[in-house]
Amino acid sequence: DDRVSGSAEAAVLEIDGVTKRFGAECAVNDLSLSVREGELLTLLGPSGCGKTTTLRLIAGLERPDDGEVRVDGERVAAAEDGTFVPPERRDVGVVFQDFALFPHLSAAENVAFGLDDWDAEAREAHVDELLELVGLTDHADSKPNELSGGQQQRIALARSLAPEPDILLLDEPFSNLDVDLRVEMREEVRRILTEAGVTGISVTHDQEEAMSISDRVAVMHDGALMQVGDPAEVFQHPQSRFVAGFLGHASFVPGYVTDDLVETSLGNIGRDRIHGLAPEYDRTRIDVLVRPDDVLVRPADGGEADGRVTYRRYLGPTVLYRVELEDGTIVEAMHNHAQRVSLDTPVTVELAATHDLSWFPTEDH
Ligand code: ATP
Repeated sequence: DDRVSGSAEAAVLEIDGVTKRFGAECAVNDLSLSVREGELLTLLGPSGCGKTTTLRLIAGLERPDDGEVRVDGERVAAAEDGTFVPPERRDVGVVFQDFALFPHLSAAENVAFGLDDWDAEAREAHVDELLELVGLTDHADSKPNELSGGQQQRIALARSLAPEPDILLLDEPFSNLDVDLRVEMREEVRRILTEAGVTGISVTHDQEEAMSISDRVAVMHDGALMQVGDPAEVFQHPQSRFVAGFLGHASFVPGYVTDDLVETSLGNIGRDRIHGLAPEYDRTRIDVLVRPDDVLVRPADGGEADGRVTYRRYLGPTVLYRVELEDGTIVEAMHNHAQRVSLDTPVTVELAATHDLSWFPTEDH
């Protein structure tokens, strides 16, 4: 996506060293993050990591205990001098998890709700335009209870976009939709934000959702920002074991660094294939990050086996295997059904990755 590849783009939102406490609980801990104009950035992390609190700090529904928040370069909250711009005076819209539509108002009236101070003719034209953008021109007169979940979400989006905010916040936008509808609405939300030219910040604990819709993901853990970047970059080159494990299946294969190789129980790996391995790690032990689709598992067929399959799970089109190697290392592998291997089969295991592999210094146990 070349909209975000140029880093020259202006920051619409800057969060600078923000901390938010609730009693002894530090919900957001010294968080700094800058969001570029027009991008969709997703805050991703497990339950309780501080995503919603971060969103509420941006919206002006919470005040920071430390640090400051700037929208379009203007300080909207600063702990130091108590600056606090209330939510309605920030150019920030919010789409709530439950859509929060007014049940007694029609779709068009819901969209027009925040536009009281607009001239009637301009307001009507703007509402028509927004209904068209979200594909609901034909449902302008329907009440929310006459609309499907996906249609309600479209109206909620149109209503939040109506006052033309610079930033749109989306709290767990797909959690109230049926599984089938989620994938369709991901694409739709993405399209609508792009066409509206608004900067989006969404929140989810679903890594697949985050990676599929976002220009960048910001991974949080215990109130802290762990890593922010392009989804593929964060997936392939996580900077911590937490991020590696949160974004997908991760096996950590022990290795020993020699002059030109890393020796592992999956075979020797050329040192040039290990991402950013500095000379100071010569002659040390590291753990190489291996994803299930980097690994090929085949029945040993009487030949020398590397290990055996200890676990197998069907994931629709693919099968996930867990293999215990001779030295006790556990590796996960993912294959399609054509290469089916049964439980307990002695297998050979081969590293099939063609990309650079990430690694972590060995932890002392
Ligand atoms: P989830 O995915 O479950 O919504 P989250 O990542 O959005 O979680 P937050 O809702 O931001 O996490 O909560 C972060 C931490 O702050 C949690 O431990 C939570 O219990 C605490 N917390 C959040 N809001 C409040 C509040 N108003 N009062 C007290 N504690 C709070």
